[in-house]
Amino acid sequence: MDEVLNQLKEGVRRFQTEVYPASAEIFTKAASEAQHPHTLFITCADSRIDPNAITSTGPGEVFVTRNIGNMVPAYGEMLGGVSAVIEFAVSALKVKHVVICGHTQCGAMHALLKPESVTALPTVSNWLKNAHAALGVAKTLHERHVRDGFAEEAIDVLTEQNVLLQLQHLKTHPSVAAAMAAGELTISGWVYNIGTGQIEVAEDGQHTFVPIT
Ligand SMILES: [Zn+2]
Repeated sequence: MDEVLNQLKEGVRRFQTEVYPASAEIFTKAASEAQHPHTLFITCADSRIDPNAITSTGPGEVFVTRNIGNMVPAYGEMLGGVSAVIEFAVSALKVKHVVICGHTQCGAMHALLKPESVTALPTVSNWLKNAHAALGVAKTLHERHVRDGFAEEAIDVLTEQNVLLQLQHLKTHPSVAAAMAAGELTISGWVYNIGTGQIEVAEDGQHTFVPIT
């Protein structure tokens, strides 16, 4: 008796009997043509984020890749899954926009601030190096904010700085740089607030995040 697997199977049955029939037209259309997503959405693996729900998108619209801390290794640093997804989405699928979406209460950001919490997780510790530059900037900014009387938490500053750093890394990928130079691709950084549903956006070149209202 595998309780979790049974729970998942029950979910599949509900999908097949309730969700699929209600949107059968959308699913059969999606299957009848090649995918043509308009957006590559890079976000954290955190189970509380639902990219389709928060953007009101359906099958075929958003190409998604997720990892711990919504990171994009700079090109050449770690050529692997993330780099391949970016190249495929931009050069083959020709997405028009790339979102890097961080979020509040991110375990990866917490681990960056408290590295001793992940000493038993060597692979995670190594992966977090992709955000070390953001950690340096965030610490400096946070100290300044505290001096100036802002009540901002260090983890919130780091979450934003991490998204901005990953946008910089994204631009080091040749497919992205070429598509942006051709005016065929734009990018933005988001922070999703899990508790309130609010999303703040830094458009390319901006260093501050503005709520979507
Ligand atoms: Zn996270």
